[in-house]
Amino acid sequence: MKNLLFQFDTDPIPSVFDTVVNYDGGVDHVIPHGGVTPQNVIAMVDGTIFTRGPKEKKNTAIFIGGTSLETGQELLRVIRKRFFADFQVSVMLDSNGSNTTAAAGVALMAKACPLAGKRAVVLAGTGPVGERAAVMLAREGAIVSITSREYERAEHACNLMHEKFKVSLTPIEASDDMTRAKAIEGAQIVFGAGAAGVRLLREESWRDSPTIEVMGDCNAVPPLGFEGVDMMDKATTRHNKIVFGAIGIGALKIKLHRACVAQLFENNKQVLDAEEIYTIAKTMV
Ligand code: NAP
Repeated sequence: MKNLLFQFDTDPIPSVFDTVVNYDGGVDHVIPHGGVTPQNVIAMVDGTIFTRGPKEKKNTAIFIGGTSLETGQELLRVIRKRFFADFQVSVMLDSNGSNTTAAAGVALMAKACPLAGKRAVVLAGTGPVGERAAVMLAREGAIVSITSREYERAEHACNLMHEKFKVSLTPIEASDDMTRAKAIEGAQIVFGAGAAGVRLLREESWRDSPTIEVMGDCNAVPPLGFEGVDMMDKATTRHNKIVFGAIGIGALKIKLHRACVAQLFENNKQVLDAEEIYTIAKTMV
C-alpha cells in the first residue's frame, strides 16, 4: 500500500519547499493542493478517511502549509473536527515552516544553555516562526516577550498563542534599531524571527550586553537579522555569547521536517503541532 501525503496549502500556489521536503520524508506520493480553506477542505478530508480500511488508514496523512499560521491553525481545527471514531488520519501543521523552524532553533538553544527562569525576547515575533518560538521558549520556563513594529500586532500574537497554548507572553513595541536594542536589555535569550532580509540588531547593541547568554537568528537572506552573526554559526561563541545563525538552525529544521513526516505514517492518530514537533526536535539535538 502506497503512503500518500495530502499537502493542504492555504496559499493559492502550494509551497514547492514543503513538497520537496515531504517527499524527502520518505512518502511515496505527495499530492499538493493550493487555495485550501476551512470550507473546501471538508470533501478532501472525507476522501482521506473513507477510502482505506482501519489497518490501512496509517498510509494516508495530511500536511498543512501556507504563509498564514492563523488560517493553518483554523484548518487543523476544522480537519480534526471532521474526524470521528477511527475515521481519522495523521496530520501535521507547519504553516510557513513555523513549527519545524522554531522547534529546531529553540531545541538547539535549550541544549546550549538552560532556558528556565531566563528572560527571552523574540524579535519581530509576530510571524509564524516567532509565534511558535515564543510558545516553545515559554514551555521551557523562560519569561517571554514578543516585539513588533506595532504594539497591537505584538499584542495580537501574544493573545493568539495564549488562546491556543495558555502561555503568558508580553508584547513590546520596537520599531527601529534603538528600540529593539532597548527591548533586549536585561534579556538572557534573544530569538530573531524577522522577515527575510531584515536586519533587526546592530552588532553594537548585543556585543557588550552583560546579560545575553544565547542568541539565534532565523533569517538566511542578507542582510541577516543579527549583524555580527554568521548564517553558518552553530553554537559558535561570539563576544562571550553562544550564537546560532539561520543555516545553523536550518539544517536541523530540514531533518526535523523529514522526521515528522515519517512519524505521520506510524499510525493514523498523530497530530503534530508545536508541542509534538518540539518534543521530536529535542530528541534530535
Ligand atoms: P515573516 O512572517 O515574513 O516576518 C516576521 C515579522 O517580521 C513580521 O511579522 C514583521 O513584524 C517583521 N518585519 C517585516 N518587515 C520588517 C521590517 N522591514 N523591519 C522590521 N520588522 C519587519 O517571517 P516568518 O515566516 O515568521 O519567518 C521568520 C524568519 O524565518 C524569516 O526570515 C524566514 O525567512 C526565516 N525562516 C528560516 C528558516 C530556516 O530554516 N532558517 C525556515 C523558515 C523560515 P511586524 O510587522 O509585527 O513588525
